[in-house]
Amino acid sequence: MKPAQAFSPSHALNAQAAVPVRSRREWLRMVGGAGLGVAGLAMVPEVRLFAQQVQDFIEGPPVPDVAPEQLSKHVWMVYAKDGFPTAENQGLMASVLFVITQKGVVVLDTGASLQIGQMAIRMIKKVTNKPVIAVFNSHYHGDHWLGNHAFVEAFGKDLPIHALAHTREQIAGHEGNLWRSLMERWTNQATLGTKVFAPNNTVQHGQVFDYGDVQLKLHFYGKAHTPSDLSVEVVQDKLTYVADIAMENRIANMDEGSYVGTFKYYDALQKAAGEQLWVPGHGRGSKTLLDTYGTFMKGIYEPCEQAVKEGVGLDGAKARVLADPRVASRAKTMDGFDSNIGKYTSLAYLEAEKEAF
Ligand SMILES: [Zn+2]
Repeated sequence: MKPAQAFSPSHALNAQAAVPVRSRREWLRMVGGAGLGVAGLAMVPEVRLFAQQVQDFIEGPPVPDVAPEQLSKHVWMVYAKDGFPTAENQGLMASVLFVITQKGVVVLDTGASLQIGQMAIRMIKKVTNKPVIAVFNSHYHGDHWLGNHAFVEAFGKDLPIHALAHTREQIAGHEGNLWRSLMERWTNQATLGTKVFAPNNTVQHGQVFDYGDVQLKLHFYGKAHTPSDLSVEVVQDKLTYVADIAMENRIANMDEGSYVGTFKYYDALQKAAGEQLWVPGHGRGSKTLLDTYGTFMKGIYEPCEQAVKEGVGLDGAKARVLADPRVASRAKTMDGFDSNIGKYTSLAYLEAEKEAF
């Protein structure tokens, strides 16, 4: 991380105000320095008002346009080329998909900030003048829904934002704010100004949404990348957005997921949907995505499973995983491999132990 130098002062100040630009952290430091607790100071109405004004005033800069790409007859994508958030990419790490239907535009995941959502809306307007009529959030990781803010701002608070029950709960609860602040930190505050807008409608596996010429079919088969990953099938296009249960060339976060669950999910989804263009939240889609990523994941999990069976410890299992051709063949080119493979092998080992018990 670079030192705190969040964004260009000229943008934040709009070149007219005389208030110095300070990050929230700096404000907190000042408050602390004055010998007043934050809670105590917040009691003073003027301070509270001023703090609110400053907060409203500070907003990260706009995200540069990324021209939308057409993936199929009805589906477009604003592609995120990076897999992880940085100050430079301003959090643009997960793609935003949109489906143009007879009834309007349906958005599948909204990006990691207000500013990314706003950019996605500009891109939607480049290819259609239809309004956005619905949003789906795939899961509760903030890179996929913090952009909800922009859509609510542009299309009203009654805009349906659909998600599975657990995803809704997580975003409305602790995870929502946690992700908002993490994203600010990771992007050196480029996402500042983003507020949490949790999904407002609960959806379930098997539901079909009819948008006239296009139907969206919802799939959910238990814990995979998180306990609640929604996949959305665009029926007429034979395209399914699978968000983070599979990735093209980035190692997936498995902290809240399950290897065995992922394999089960793939099997059930493939059985239900048949041949599809599988589109992930990170990277490019393909008809072979689930097979390719599944092979990599099995290259991590199966050696751990075998090691547990033989009573080989975690270090031995790690050596086997790294030597497994299914893993070794991807090691050099996969985003985040070196920094994450150890951790995600440990998680695979723990899961294999639990399964064997
Ligand atoms: Zn993600």
